[in-house]
Order: sequence, then structure tokens, then C-alpha cells
Amino acid sequence: MTSAIPSMLLQTLAELGRSLADFAFPPACWACGNAIPEAAAHLCPPCWDSILSGVRAPARCQRCGCPAPTPRATCANCDAWSKPLPTAASHPVPAPAEPTPPSGPGCAEPTDPRGLAFARAVALGPFDPPMQRAIHALKFRGCRSLAVLLGRRLGEELGPTLAPVQVLVPVPLHPARQRERGYNQSLCIATGLARALGIPVEAQLLRRVVNTRQQARLDASARHQNLAAAFRLARPVPPVQCVAVVDDVMTTGSTLDACARVLLRAGVQTVWAVVLASRFRTEALAWRGSYSSGPT
Ligand SMILES: [Zn+2]
Ligand SMILES: [Zn+2]
Repeated sequence: MTSAIPSMLLQTLAELGRSLADFAFPPACWACGNAIPEAAAHLCPPCWDSILSGVRAPARCQRCGCPAPTPRATCANCDAWSKPLPTAASHPVPAPAEPTPPSGPGCAEPTDPRGLAFARAVALGPFDPPMQRAIHALKFRGCRSLAVLLGRRLGEELGPTLAPVQVLVPVPLHPARQRERGYNQSLCIATGLARALGIPVEAQLLRRVVNTRQQARLDASARHQNLAAAFRLARPVPPVQCVAVVDDVMTTGSTLDACARVLLRAGVQTVWAVVLASRFRTEALAWRGSYSSGPT
């Protein structure tokens, strides 16, 4: 009882402090700037609705996670994944270093050796404005707690889909970039996702040895060449069959592909890509008028 009193007092003081701070600086949505009732929500209800609309689509492509009107194994978004990557010749098909264990349920899709190395991608939604602004906030405005929250929502919304995943591996930042930013947003997303799924995060498994320049303005070929040797294995992989590489956005898939190849070479049987948002091809989303102006 005596130890409970200071704890209760501290809790009350913390709540009072939060109320005073909310009064002095009313919390605003990180995506649109509108007022929100409490800072912990991070986003206003319309922005949350928009961000979660992708997972509430009638169906999703099983391969790339693109919202779809009916269930499908591939779609207009991921058909291009099977085409050879620009520098595929310099990146031979990854061979497991050791005999692979028997495949587990739901985790045995063969990796397409000609295109992207991960077997499947899962995204909370398209890289549309509310999500785009939320990701900008968690990446460039220091809002780590939004990254954790969005990761948790991703796990809560898509838990059954992600059931085969045993370990989460965030895409690492180069140490220089991490010092500059102060944190790795992919690790924050993976942390929230891990809480929802009840699986571990292996934050030290991969390291980024090349400080790749900004990728946003590069085409697919330049991105792939830039990233091909950027990642290394930093420690032995855990004895699991299905690993998910976690990132904030999937653009061409080159970053996730480069990480997946390192893990596959180390003997992981199946690698998935899990992201908050994906730049789905416009034609794949044309059935939804609201997505028709999305980036390609
Ligand atoms: Zn908003
Ligand atoms: Zn697809």
C-alpha cells in the first residue's frame, strides 16, 4: 500500500501535466493538422479511416497486398515483379547455405528467382496523402510513437495474413543516417507490429554498410544498383523458416529485395516484405475511383 501511493500520485501528476499541455498546445492530426481530442490518437478519425480503407477493401492480392475487388493470386501491380531486375545477372539466384528444414504451413511459396526475392508483400494501404503525410511525420518530424502505433494497427488489422511470419527484421539505416535522425523508423514500426503479433524483432540481424544516397528520384535500375551491396548479415539467422523484412514504404521493392537476398543466402527459407504503405500501380487500383490519382 505504501509503495502504491507514490505511484498513484505520479500517475495523477502525469495526467494533470498532459491535460495542461493539451490545453496550452491542443493536439493536432499529424497528417492534416485538424484538432484531435487527445494526442494519443495521433491522427483524426477521417485520416484513420482513409489509412485503413485499404485493409477494408473487398479483397487483396495475395502476392503484393494490393486492394482488389475480388480475391486473386497476382494482379496488375505485381505482374511486373516476375520480370528480370535491371542487374539480375550480377545477382545470381540465392542458394541456401545449409539444407533447408521442412517447410511450414503457409510459408512455403517459392521465391521467384527472376524478379523480387521476397515471396509476398503485405501493406496496410496505398501511399496516398493521409498515409503519405503520416509517414513523413514519423520519418522526418520525429514522431516515433506514430510509427509504433501504425505498426500495431498493421498487426491488428492483418494478423491472420501475417500468421506464418516468425521473426521481424527492420530495414536498417546506415549508422551515419541513424545518428542524424536519432532513430530508425522501421524499427519503431516493427516494434508496434511485434506487440500486436506476439513475435520477436531481430533489430541487429542486418546492417547497412553502404550509405546509399536518396533513392526517391532514382529509377528502378539505379535504385537496384545502388542497393545491391548495401546490406550484410551481422549475426547468424535464428532457426526459423519465415522472416518478414519491415519498412515504411515500398516503392520499387529494391530495398526489401536487397535485404531478402541477404537472408535467403543465409538459409532463411521464405522472406516476406511488410510495409505501412506501398506505391501500388495506378492501373491496379483503377477499380477504386479514389485511388485513380495515386502515384505509380
Ligand atoms: Zn487528419
Ligand atoms: Zn498483386
